[in-house]
Amino acid sequence: MTAATIVHIPSNILDAVYAGAKELYPRESFLLLRGKKSRGVIRITDLILAPFAVHREGEVHFNPYMFSGDYSLVGTVHSHPSGNISPSHVDLNYFFGRILMIVGYPYEGKECVAVYDSIGDRVSVEITAPVECKDEDFY
Ligand SMILES: [Zn+2]
Repeated sequence: MTAATIVHIPSNILDAVYAGAKELYPRESFLLLRGKKSRGVIRITDLILAPFAVHREGEVHFNPYMFSGDYSLVGTVHSHPSGNISPSHVDLNYFFGRILMIVGYPYEGKECVAVYDSIGDRVSVEITAPVECKDEDFY
């Protein structure tokens, strides 16, 4: 599996991630990312609530077999209420899909989001024009 070179996230999808993170603060939020990959660009297209997510001692786990059935799932996003957007060891051990996105408190602007590949290297993020999405995919 090769790492993405850049991730494009529409501004309204990032806003929805931030809104969910704020709603759950000081707990962590956790969502699955659906997207499309072409020529080194992963474009996030949707957010999906993870029905098997369990909040346990500040970290989040879910059933990895969810990824076996839906190839449009490109990764996960969760919040760090501490504001530190570096991945923890647990985050990297529970890496699923191609990318790990972390959003940090206070969940505003482009400084509060970071994306990592499966070995923990940072991937560039570009916030792009908003897209129309189905409401039920969002908080
Ligand atoms: Zn984490």
